[in-house]
Amino acid sequence: MKKILNLLLICCIAGSAFAQEKVTKQPVFDVHVHTMKVNPAWLSSMCPWFLSDMPGADPNEQAPFFMNQDCVDPLPPAKNDQHMQDEVIKRIKDFNMTMIAFGDAEVLHNWADAAPKGRIIPGISPGTLTVEQFRDSLEGGFYKVMAEVAPQYQGMSPSDMTLDPYFAVAEELNIPAGIHMGTGGNGMANLTQPKYRASLGDPFLLEDLLARHPKLKIWVMHAGYPMADHMIALMGANAYVYVDISGMIWSYPLDEVHAYIKRLVQAGFGKRIMYGTDFMMWPRLFETSMGVIEHAQYLSEDQKRDILFNNAARFFRMDKDDFEWPE
Ligand SMILES: [Zn+2]
Repeated sequence: MKKILNLLLICCIAGSAFAQEKVTKQPVFDVHVHTMKVNPAWLSSMCPWFLSDMPGADPNEQAPFFMNQDCVDPLPPAKNDQHMQDEVIKRIKDFNMTMIAFGDAEVLHNWADAAPKGRIIPGISPGTLTVEQFRDSLEGGFYKVMAEVAPQYQGMSPSDMTLDPYFAVAEELNIPAGIHMGTGGNGMANLTQPKYRASLGDPFLLEDLLARHPKLKIWVMHAGYPMADHMIALMGANAYVYVDISGMIWSYPLDEVHAYIKRLVQAGFGKRIMYGTDFMMWPRLFETSMGVIEHAQYLSEDQKRDILFNNAARFFRMDKDDFEWPE
């Protein structure tokens, strides 16, 4: 009897050690996390890949509801600011995650304080800041990344000269910049963002900016979806441009998401694709989005590791001295 108990014990310890190994040993880098205050008016659960069935709408009828909530297992939103923070920090620990996070400054400081050292890497976007204020913020040392820059929503090209002095500061200070290009949801221009233009998500619009700032390291947020041809041509011509697959990975039709990632990998850019979520308010979004890469049949284990961690660690020049590098 004792022997059996011992055996059981050994197998259980071995089993839990294995389980632990699996979650803690494989590091994950999420390069696109929004920090925002929980607004009870916005709180709604979300069905991943909800853009799979675009409605046949009419301007004389009620505006179509943006988010489908009719699925077997919708992701619930965080209940309040503390709940959101606790859930994010729990995932950083459980899934061995590092995150590039940006948005509400107060929330960002709280998360950075609560997270293990270096696991929240703060980003800042020019927003309404003057160029001097933007420079001061970056020189202050807290912010390490320029993101999310989203001129597409203002009806502006990323190469617009009004943004140029900000990118010049990022180039001078060796700060990587993330620019929203491509995705815009469903009926964005009609429903919530009248200045949004699909054409301003064209990756080719980055060429002038890149030519003016040869040392600027940029990543194209949302991978210029769905303009794969232009994205591939741009990455071919510019050796330092990376992409993230955030947002699209959990909102557009799943087959379409896989086809897009596969296309970029097939075109030879497996070392320039970074994993990201575009996290806003649904804590389970992290594991839902990771699962897309984990279960991708067309990716080798090495390619999955590159997308989930290695590419971002390289892009953001993570240093073993100031970062507890997960083995
Ligand atoms: Zn975006």
